[in-house]
Amino acid sequence: MAIDLTSYRLEAEEFVTAIDREYYLHYSGQQDEFEIEPIYDRHAALFSRESVDGLREAGAPAALVEFATQGHIGRETKSHSAELARCEAALELEWDGKPLPFRSAPVVQANEPDPERRAQLEAARDELTEAELNPRLRELLERTHALTADLGWDSYAEMCEELSGIDLRALERETAAFLEGTEGEYEGIVEPQLARQVGLGFGELRRSDLPAFFRAPSLDAAFPQERLVPVLTETLAGMGIDVGSQPGVNIDTEQRPKKSPRAFCAPVRVPDEVYLVIAPVGGRDDFAALFHEAGHTEHYAHVDRALPFEDRYLGDNSVTEGFAFLFDHLVSNPEWLRRRMGLEDPAQIVEHSRASKLVFLRRYAAKLGYELELHGGGPVDGLEREYAGRLSGAIHVDWPSATWLSDVDDFFYSARYLRAWALETHTRAALGERFGPAWFEEPAAGEFLRDLWRRGQGADGGEGILASVGGSRLSFEVLREDLGVAA
Ligand SMILES: [Zn+2]
Repeated sequence: MAIDLTSYRLEAEEFVTAIDREYYLHYSGQQDEFEIEPIYDRHAALFSRESVDGLREAGAPAALVEFATQGHIGRETKSHSAELARCEAALELEWDGKPLPFRSAPVVQANEPDPERRAQLEAARDELTEAELNPRLRELLERTHALTADLGWDSYAEMCEELSGIDLRALERETAAFLEGTEGEYEGIVEPQLARQVGLGFGELRRSDLPAFFRAPSLDAAFPQERLVPVLTETLAGMGIDVGSQPGVNIDTEQRPKKSPRAFCAPVRVPDEVYLVIAPVGGRDDFAALFHEAGHTEHYAHVDRALPFEDRYLGDNSVTEGFAFLFDHLVSNPEWLRRRMGLEDPAQIVEHSRASKLVFLRRYAAKLGYELELHGGGPVDGLEREYAGRLSGAIHVDWPSATWLSDVDDFFYSARYLRAWALETHTRAALGERFGPAWFEEPAAGEFLRDLWRRGQGADGGEGILASVGGSRLSFEVLREDLGVAA
């Protein structure tokens, strides 16, 4: 029986809204339960094999087929994922003679000043990962690959490529060139910042030191809690956006004991009901996280409500991530730091951010190459060496192989982030050219962004946005140039 696209869209929207509402209520600390099972059960038909096949046969937009396929795989691997989550939640390691939950260990490690203790903590985490999580992750991976074959694709990579419309191999060529092009200057840019934040050079650096380097607590003083929400409101007002009068935007700053410590955006109904949730703490990370989520929030809240479901909620997430990066980049923009945070000399923040970004981009570039191998349809045995080799080469540390199955983004989300970084750089350059270095204080820049936001994540996705900001091809050359690395 042919699938009725109109009713499929209606039901899919109902499902996404219900899931996002449950997510919002639970993680904002207003509801103890997080009951998504009944929602999945109620809408099981969305993710049936018949729906996946029906949508493909009907020539439905790729974003809808992708939604159905990802949901189908999620449903078919539900017991594996649930078992994995249960196992991980119950894991503990012993730290200072007391049990420490496995999931809290990364935060403790990022805040630990002693490099030896950081290394011990990471070694303990890696040991648990290998013994307890990897066998389960391996099963989940094999089940996922088998389902992909059932659905008629040669490999998981091929499936993701077709459904997302992203040419993953072409992207890998860009990111491989970026790795090569930044290789020579990498240590020279990063090392002074490593020395300043963690007191180490590349000779002594271990992977376990990186979270402390990114965390950089010495930079927190410039970001006091009481400025967090006001500076966001002021920044948006500078762009001509009065967040208080946006009917679709709900900023939830209330303190609740069970509220998630990390800011998040819940696009419950796009564009009419979007939540930006924060438990304000302060510090540089908190500001960056709030601005990142505010980028998502403004994007979703401006999407044209006449667009079909898939262009409002689904599609190319490189677009929404790109706008989120555009906002979180403000927190390390010297002009913004001077004007909005009143810092006379923002150089340390700017330089740390540049070094961190270079490490991140190289890490994701290496990850993409590895994930293409992992999901390329060949055997996965022995790929832990491939993982460790690629990451060690990109980051210049002895990268442990233990996380070869956990450090993997579902459905190549890593590719969306990589594209988003490039898209953000193109967009920011266009804003700077048109409206000057303080573009974030120009209402016309806000108007320019609104025009881009209205389009959602439609058929032409990231490439459509790119064309509007004057780019012809999503190039990683601009990222290299933006980081001040010579060709
Ligand atoms: Zn994001």
